[in-house]
Amino acid sequence: MSDVTGAVLVFNAGSSSLKYQLVQPDSGSVLAEGIAERIGDEGSSITHEQNGESVTETLTLDDHLAAVRRAERFFADNGTDLASAGLTAVGHRVVHGGRSFHEPTLVTPKVVSEIERISPLAPLHNPANLVGILAAQELLPDVPSVAVFDTAFFHGLPDAAATYAIDREVAAEHAIRRYGFHGTSHEYVSARAAEFLERDTADLNQIVLHLGNGASASAIAGGQPIDTSMGMTPLEGLVMGTRSGDIDPGLVLHLNRVADLSVDEIDVLLNKRSGLRGLCGENDFRTISEMMDAGDDAARRAFDVYIHRLRRYIGAYAFALGRVDAITFTAGVGENSAVVRARALEGLEGFGITVDDERNSLRARHARRISTDDSAVDVLVVPTNEELAIARQAAAVVAAG
Ligand code: ADP
Repeated sequence: MSDVTGAVLVFNAGSSSLKYQLVQPDSGSVLAEGIAERIGDEGSSITHEQNGESVTETLTLDDHLAAVRRAERFFADNGTDLASAGLTAVGHRVVHGGRSFHEPTLVTPKVVSEIERISPLAPLHNPANLVGILAAQELLPDVPSVAVFDTAFFHGLPDAAATYAIDREVAAEHAIRRYGFHGTSHEYVSARAAEFLERDTADLNQIVLHLGNGASASAIAGGQPIDTSMGMTPLEGLVMGTRSGDIDPGLVLHLNRVADLSVDEIDVLLNKRSGLRGLCGENDFRTISEMMDAGDDAARRAFDVYIHRLRRYIGAYAFALGRVDAITFTAGVGENSAVVRARALEGLEGFGITVDDERNSLRARHARRISTDDSAVDVLVVPTNEELAIARQAAAVVAAG
């Protein structure tokens, strides 16, 4: 059994799920990981992987605490007593830090109440993240908990990029501004891209495209984000698996007034029944590719809308940056879909962007360059690793005391 001393347990709690990973922050080695799904629902299950074995169990998990308890027993069965294993920290992904949190933060009762206070900004996410924090604290009271915020990397967005053009008093009263999300991934990937290129982040202008089920783009000048596609909530920006991304806000008013949909119904429509799924019934790019190959028009249209939006952001960010050194693809779609990458950057040779077809179609799990040697802009694929980034930030907070 591998030594878990000094490891960080990373929690990513969703409304009905809990993902966890036990990781050594320095080496990045993953000692164990698991996922509990459909918590509080019928047919909940948990999968735990450790020491090269994976176990899935279907059982009743009434709440997140029950999931954490079950996970703890899986660890114990593998010879790891979490409470006495010498863990450095439990690192928690927290989606929204509002205006209060700019840095990874040691969790205290005051921090818990502040995360609770700003929960209306992310009503689906923050309460779930909090439940994860409280469950960890109940079971592992002697291990410090650190909250790592998805918004933190973007807290310094220039005012012009962070501000919506609405009544400034209404905006101030309700903390309405563009916060940005996926910050942990954009920060990690942009740093890895600089490392790969053997350049200092301070000298690089980058566009990072995090294309997973959720998707976001960022423009980063010398290590500082100057714009990002997600806004006050993770609904703005790119077309996503099930989220619409940018729409005319008038559409919401129309659906409410004319189609007689309630605000909650519109919420579900835009977050769960839009994006690729709304356009063609599927949100997984592997299935969409198969459907396109079979001549499915809706799948082709969904793909075209997705690419059109992506290119619009790439173009806008190139202008915002003035000079682009690197464009980096990451997350499930960005790391795996050669056709998305090719179409996103097709015909941009005049802007110094040339993707090499052969390099692009090569499948690999490591950071790599997919542009030609003479492309002025380096195009990269860099796997993201939010768990490792959270583990490292949590360990740094604990070390700083
Ligand atoms: P999440 O936002 O849930 O973290 P991920 O980053 O894991 O999402 O990305 C999940 C998405 O990645 C899937 O919905 C699928 O569209 C896409 N994906 C995963 N593997 C492949 C692949 N081999 N080819 C194309 N798309 C893929």
